[in-house]
Formats: sequence, structure tokens, C-alpha cells
Amino acid sequence: MTPEKQAAPAGAAALPLPPMKWDAWGDPGLAKELSADIKGLLAAALGVTGDAAPGPDVSEVVLRPSALTPDDLAALAAVVGEAHLSTADADRLPRAGGKSTPDLLRRRSREPQDAPDAVVLPGGEEEIAALLAVCAERRIAVVPFGGGTSVVGGLEPQRGAFAAVVSLDLRRLDQLLDLDGTSGEALLGAGLTGPAAEALLAEHGFELGHYPQSFRYATIGGFAATRSSGQNSAGHGRFDEMVRGLRVVTPAGVLDLGRAPASAAGPDLRELFLGSEGTLGVITAVRVRVHPVPAVKAYEAWSFPDFATGTAALRAVEQQGTGATVLRLSDEAETMVNLAMTEKIGGEPAVTGCLAVTVFEGTAEQVAARHQLTRAALLAAGGSSLGETPARAWEHGRFNAPYLRDALLDAGALCETLETATSWQQLPALRFAVTAALTEALPGALVLCHISHVYPTGASLYFTVVAALGEEPLERWATAKRAAGDAIVRSGGTITHHHAVGTDHRPWMAAEIGEVGVRILRAVKAELDPAGILNPGKLIP
Ligand SMILES: Cc1cc2nc3c(=O)[nH]c(=O)nc-3n(C[C@H](O)[C@H](O)[C@H](O)COP(=O)(O)OP(=O)(O)OC[C@H]3O[C@@H](n4cnc5c(N)ncnc54)[C@H](O)[C@@H]3O)c2cc1C
Repeated sequence: MTPEKQAAPAGAAALPLPPMKWDAWGDPGLAKELSADIKGLLAAALGVTGDAAPGPDVSEVVLRPSALTPDDLAALAAVVGEAHLSTADADRLPRAGGKSTPDLLRRRSREPQDAPDAVVLPGGEEEIAALLAVCAERRIAVVPFGGGTSVVGGLEPQRGAFAAVVSLDLRRLDQLLDLDGTSGEALLGAGLTGPAAEALLAEHGFELGHYPQSFRYATIGGFAATRSSGQNSAGHGRFDEMVRGLRVVTPAGVLDLGRAPASAAGPDLRELFLGSEGTLGVITAVRVRVHPVPAVKAYEAWSFPDFATGTAALRAVEQQGTGATVLRLSDEAETMVNLAMTEKIGGEPAVTGCLAVTVFEGTAEQVAARHQLTRAALLAAGGSSLGETPARAWEHGRFNAPYLRDALLDAGALCETLETATSWQQLPALRFAVTAALTEALPGALVLCHISHVYPTGASLYFTVVAALGEEPLERWATAKRAAGDAIVRSGGTITHHHAVGTDHRPWMAAEIGEVGVRILRAVKAELDPAGILNPGKLIP
């Protein structure tokens, strides 16, 4: 794009993304409708009976005009080429933020919306290094952009001390750069989406097995930059635990980290960039642990009389190390709502109390052994088997819930999630404190909770809140989120187990890592990014 084309009106996108609604989640072709059961529940529990006022059509959205000068644009185009730079509204709007409920509510606003001043698509490390140099010299902020699925404000087009901000979209870094089947390692380009990475690995009989709910859109670089956690993490570990090495371009130079399966060569610098959320450098490639595509899978669902009994059962399983790939437990409210929402496959047995799902992967012998050990532990802990159908139903519908969030918004109900983790000992008190904070801030709200990530010493808690949209939903959610964050910190939980920090959790970072911890992060940032162009306003207080 030439500088004089900068003022061109919004039209077709020059740099289109995979199909993703600009004001909602996911593929427009997969939108969901609310079932009669859910509509009944909304009316009975929340008094929500009508539809929310519709948001603007994309043609009605007004974006703040690009603040980049023709000189700036010429300097950026000189690095990436005109075909990989755009100031068109149709390219800026889809990169204006992430996919949290507040993001979606802001997209539905008829007020002028903020967006990056341009989108750049570098083709490799040299171009990224050159772009960072141009932006530092011209004082332009840079927001690295992976799949655009942040739910913590990680992609806000904040300018910090600068006049303009560009979205640095990593989509062109989409190659399988190396596969070492002997060691079980693959070097993946940061811009590969989850499905694209799995497809490339599957050609060689391998898989990564990292399935966050945002799997279809989120990228390898985004997983690393946010310390993502997938649904198979009981088996394969969190994404950060799967990382063997990282390549990172910073304004100060390029780092190639992680040269052996383990090392005593001082502090592990990979840890600095895992979870760095685009504030310290641009991750260009990630060396990850991969494993052969599992030959066999087995499923079994369980019912527990209450959440405490189910929690103790998951703890027993995890502490015995039975080798389950998926271990999750819904509380009573989530069990009830999920039953109303889940697409039925086959005749499912009635579920009462709390539903737990277990899945096992591996060779036939491994799966049989892991399944048997887990069954024995769950039976001993008071579980009743529901057979495999509800577990298969969970897997079948596991990427669909975000579509229901959009249908709920359309129906006038606010739906948002938050998550934390703590020790097994503190888990009940943390759950109680967060639930109390949320229900006090949003009287009448439905608060659902599940455990989906377990460790020998503790587990995560994932809350889903459904409330009437009402007046000023953004402000009401901000109040509820503040109350929940304060309750988490007071109760000894982490402010985020896997969603990352972004802008939304930044106010609690000092409580999380202490004032000295904050000074360390600031010092590292000052060294790597002296101009402060990388993702201002995120992560580091
Ligand atoms: C419906 C839904 C479900 C979700 N489910 C899960 C889940 O199950 N588990 C989970 O952990 N998270 C989940 N998330 C959150 C989100 O998907 C993750 O944080 C994901 O890892 C973000 O990846 P991304 O590629 O979309 O990154 P983006 O959203 O594009 O970016 C996230 C942050 O990382 C930075 N960044 C991105 N790529 C790079 C890079 N290459 N180098 C440096 N910085 C970079 C960005 O600047 C930003 O700060 C969910 C989100 C949604 C909307």
C-alpha cells in the first residue's frame, strides 16, 4: 500500500484473517442458537426474556483514523513490502482487540472505536528486527498479534507514550521448521494456528496435543507468549511445560534459547519469554515436545455427589499419577447448565451432582492400564461411573461453548469467565471467596465453576458468570472482576492460571510477584526494549 492510499475508505481487507466474526467468536458458519432449555433457564434464573439491542453493522463502525504519517508508512513498507502493510479499516478492525466479553461489548458499541493505526505482516526474523528498529526510531508502539484470541486485553491498541501503534501480525511465520522424531521435538513457526500445526505434524505421525478452547484460531507464538493451558494438560502438560526452545527477536537483538533437554547453565531464560505477552520481544519460533499420534483413546464420565467429594477424587488420581490425559470436574450448577447446553449424542444417562470427565490416550496397553488405575481411584473416592457417552459428548462439543456466549449476549445475558489456581488445601476457601465476590457484585448472577487442570499439589478453578446484561454491562463487569481479583489475591490464588495478564490482570501483578519482582521485569524490559515500544500497558505495572 502506498502512503497516499492510506485514506482509502474501508473496503475489502487486504490482509484477511481466517474466518472469524469481527464482533463475536469464531466462524460465522458455526453460530449457535440457544436451546429452549437454556432460554427457560435464563427467564427463570435471571429474568432475561428478550433480545439485546443489536450492535452496529460492520459498515457502520467508525474507527479512529490512522495516525501514521506518509513517511512512517513508507518506512514500514520499505521493510515488509506494500502488499504486507495496510491501514484499511477492514484490516484494522479485526485486530482492534481480543475476544473477551468486554471486547465483544466494545465492538457492539456505536461510539467511535480505537484500532491499531496499521497492520504489518513480516515474513521472517530479519523483517521483524527491521520493523522494531523503524518503530523505535519513529516512536511507534508495536502489538504482536497471533490468533487474536486474548481474553485479558493483551491486544489493546494502546499507544503508551507514542503517537501511533501498529499490529504486528505473525501469520506468515507458518512453517514446520524442523522435526526431530528421534528426540520427539518439533520447531514450529510462531504464526501457525493450532489446527495448522497439528496438520503439519500429523503428516509425520506426530502431534502436539495442545487443545485450549481457542485451539482453532490461537497460534504457537500466542500459546508461548501467554502460557496457555490445553484440555489435555493432565497428560501432556501445559504449553510452557512442552516448550524445549524459543527464538525471540527483541529490539536489543535475537535470542535462541534452550539447547538441551535440561541444563544447569544458570537461570532458565526461556521462562522470561514464556508469558511475556509481547512486552519483551517477538517470539518467532518455538521448539516443542511432540509425541506419536495416539493409537487408542478411552473415555469415561463420572458422577460425584458434590464438588468436595469430586475434588478429593481428582486429587487422589493426580497424586497417584495414574496417567489420565483429561481430568475435569464441574460443580453442580455447571453440570446442570452443561446438560441443557450439550449437544446430545446417543442416549445419555441422567447426570446428578457433579460431572467428571476422564480421557486416556496412548497405546492400547497404556490406555488400559491408565484407565484401570484411574477407575479404581475414582471408585474408591465415591464416584459412580456414567459410562463413556457423556465424556464423548463433552469432547464433541468442547469448542462450541464460546458460540453460546454470543447467543447469550444476543439474548440479553452477559457471560464471562475468569480463572485462578491454588493448592488443594486452599482450593475450597478460594472457590467460596470468588463465588461470594461475584454474586455480591452481580446479585442474581449464575456462577458456575469447574476444575480442568490438576497438579500433584493443587488445581485450577475456572468460573463462568452469567447475568442479565442490564444497563452499563461493561462497568458492572469491571466491578465484579475487581471484586473477584481482590478475593483471589486475598485467598492466596494466582491472578491467572492460563488466561495471562494483559491489561485486565495488570493491577494485581504487584500483589502476585511483589514490588521487587515488578522492578526485575521493568529492568529486563528496559534492557531489551529501551524505547518501550513493545506492547505498552500490558503485563508489567
Ligand atoms: C473462546 C476462548 C477460549 C479460550 N480458551 C483458552 C484455553 O482453553 N486455555 C488457554 O490457555 N487460553 C484460552 N483462551 C485465551 C487465549 O486463546 C490464549 O491466551 C491463547 O494462547 C492466545 O493465543 P493467540 O495466538 O490468539 O494470541 P493473541 O491473542 O494474538 O495474543 C495474546 C498475547 O500474546 C502476545 N503475542 C501473540 N503472539 C506473540 C508472539 N509470537 N510473540 C510475542 N508476543 C505474542 C500478544 O501481543 C498478546 O499480548 C481462550 C480465549 C477465547 C476467546
